Amino acid sequence: MWGSVEGGGTKWVCAVGTGPDDIRAETTIPTTTPDETLGAVIDFFGEHGPVDAVGVATFGPVELRPGHVDYGRITTTPKPDWSGADVVGPIHRALGVPIGFETDVNGAAMGEMRWGAGVGLESIIYLTVGTGVGGGAISHGTLVGGLSHPEMGHVSVPRHPTDRFPGACPFHGDCLEGMAAGPTLEARWGMPAPDLPASKAAKAIEIEAHYVAHGLRNFVYTLAPELIILGGGVSKMPGLVESVGEKLVEILADYAPSELSESGFVVRPGLGARSGIAGGFALAQSVQ
Ligand code: ZN
Repeated sequence: MWGSVEGGGTKWVCAVGTGPDDIRAETTIPTTTPDETLGAVIDFFGEHGPVDAVGVATFGPVELRPGHVDYGRITTTPKPDWSGADVVGPIHRALGVPIGFETDVNGAAMGEMRWGAGVGLESIIYLTVGTGVGGGAISHGTLVGGLSHPEMGHVSVPRHPTDRFPGACPFHGDCLEGMAAGPTLEARWGMPAPDLPASKAAKAIEIEAHYVAHGLRNFVYTLAPELIILGGGVSKMPGLVESVGEKLVEILADYAPSELSESGFVVRPGLGARSGIAGGFALAQSVQ
């Protein structure tokens, strides 16, 4: 039996089971302070365990290098109270079992590879477009990373010819996240995406697809994935995933393997909103 933890900026989801299809207990904990939230995580596993290992995939940035003095911590997040928060330490000390630790998007990529859209493949990318933009890549079965984990949301993207929005990334302005994340979409149009009237929705999708597809072109040419999975709240805009797929084919301009031109190269998560919690199980299994 494994434990899975998906740590987000507003809530932490914990589950006990053997995988996403066999969950024996589950809870959702609001993200408040690290002490309070992690305390509730530990209480949940104390009540519903024992588990043989726990996989924790959280928002970041995080320190993933085993042996580093800050391993297991969230590093420089702007989220109040969480900068420098030790996530792995308290859970490990309380439960005494191996803890796997990854970013939320790396976890989601692992979950999709094991149980979702990536089953049977070796190299995939999971990109979330929501409150922020982030991605995890698996290459030949191994997560891509080194000095840090990838920060796919912060690549450069060319401007859409008619878009005058300056960009909202506090670090780079008009990077992919600065031009395509949910808060940008809302600021560009003056309302949340679901409220857009039909007259504006088509243009909003076109501009959004432009930025996401240009981000993906960078990843296709550097990582050569077999599949791209597009998750996150913004990706649920009707028609967006299809528009991104079409735009990507257009801007690859036939300089790519023919498989990339087939529909189904850019897809929604096979596990819906469960990629992250599935990833925690895959992660737990990998360290057991
Ligand atoms: Zn940025």
